[in-house]
Amino acid sequence: MNRVFNFSAGPAALPEPVLERARSEWMDFRGAGMSVMEMSHRGKIFMEIAEKAESDVRTLLEVPDDYAVLFLQGGATGQFAAVPLNLQPGGQGMDYVDTGAWSVKAIKEARKFGPVNVVASSKDSGYASIPDPSEWRLDPDAAYLHYTPNETIGGVEFHFVPDAGTVPLVADMSSTILSRPLDVSRYGVIYAGAQKNIGPAGVTLVIVRGDLLERNSGPVPAIVDYALQASNDSMYNTPPTLAWYLSGLVFEWLLEQGGLPAIAEVNQRKAAKLYHFVDNSEFYRNPVEVSARSWMNAPFILADAALDGSFLKQAAEAGLSGLKGHRSVGGMRASLYNAVPEAAVDALIEFMADFEQRHA
Ligand SMILES: *Cc1c(COP(=O)(O)O)cnc(C)c1O
Repeated sequence: MNRVFNFSAGPAALPEPVLERARSEWMDFRGAGMSVMEMSHRGKIFMEIAEKAESDVRTLLEVPDDYAVLFLQGGATGQFAAVPLNLQPGGQGMDYVDTGAWSVKAIKEARKFGPVNVVASSKDSGYASIPDPSEWRLDPDAAYLHYTPNETIGGVEFHFVPDAGTVPLVADMSSTILSRPLDVSRYGVIYAGAQKNIGPAGVTLVIVRGDLLERNSGPVPAIVDYALQASNDSMYNTPPTLAWYLSGLVFEWLLEQGGLPAIAEVNQRKAAKLYHFVDNSEFYRNPVEVSARSWMNAPFILADAALDGSFLKQAAEAGLSGLKGHRSVGGMRASLYNAVPEAAVDALIEFMADFEQRHA
C-alpha cells in the first residue's frame, strides 16, 4: 500500500486512524454480524451511532442547547435552496455577500425564491479580498444575511464574524467548519457539505437556531424542511447512514486531538508555512490579500504557466496529489484540511523549492 499526501479540495483526505478504524469495523460492526451500511437506521445500533455523532459535534463546536443539529442530504448546494425556503417568511429581501464562486452559486439559487440584495461584492478586485464591512449595504429588514466564510476555489477567508445586528446570520461553512473554534451563538444557520472537513460526501451538517425552525410560511419540500427534520432526528426519510457513521469517527478523532483549539493551532501553522514560502519566492505567487488568506485552501500560481503540466506531473511522482487549481481559475491549489498532516505541507514545500531551483 502506498498512500499519497492528498491536497484535494473535496472530496478530500480523511484521517488515517479513521480509515483504519472503519476498516476494522467494516465486515462486522461491533458484533452485529453486519456492516453499518447493511443495518436499519431505526435499529438500536445505528441510533447509538447517530446520537454519538451528534453529541460529539455539539461538544466540538460547543453548540448551544437551543440549536438543532441536522444530518441531511443534498450537499451545500441543497442548502442554497433550503435556506431561502426555510427562512424567508414571504416577500422579504435576502441579503448576500458575494466573495467568490460559491457565493455566486448561492445567490443564483436564492433568486429563484425571492428578491436578493447583494450587500457587497469583491468581484471587481478579482475576488482576492473581503469587502470592507463598513461599506456593506445591509437591509435591516432582510430575512437573513448569507455569507461564505471560506471560498474554497479562490482561497479567500473571513477571519472575523460579520455583524448582522438582529438579522439572522447564515453561513456556508463547507470548507472551514471544524478548522478552529467557532461561536455558534452568533449564527442563525450554519451548513456544510461533509466532504471537505467532516467526512465522506453524502451528508450535510446543518445547525439551526431553535427560533428559526418554524419560520417558513410557504410549502417546503419535506427533505429540506428544517422543522420536520429536527422533529424526526434527521430521519424523516432514510439518512446517509455510512457517511453519518464515518463523520462520527472523524468527530471522535478530533476530540482525541484535543478538539478545535488544538487542531486550529496546527492548521494555522500549516497555512503560515506555505504562505511564508510562497511570499519569499520569486517563482510562486498567491494573489489573495494577506488579511483574507484561507487556512484551508491555498491557491498559488507559477511564474510561467507553461510549467503547470510538469509541476503537476512531478508532484504526483513525488507522492503529492490533488494540487491542480479549480478549472475556473487555473494554477495550483493546496487544500490543507484537518486531515492533511503537517508533514504533507513540509513535503510540498520541499518539492516546490526543488522544482523552483530546477526551473527558475
Ligand atoms: C464544496 C462547496 C460547496 C458545494 O458542496 P456540494 O456538497 O457539492 O453541494 C458549496 N460551498 C462551498 C463553500 C464549498 O466548498
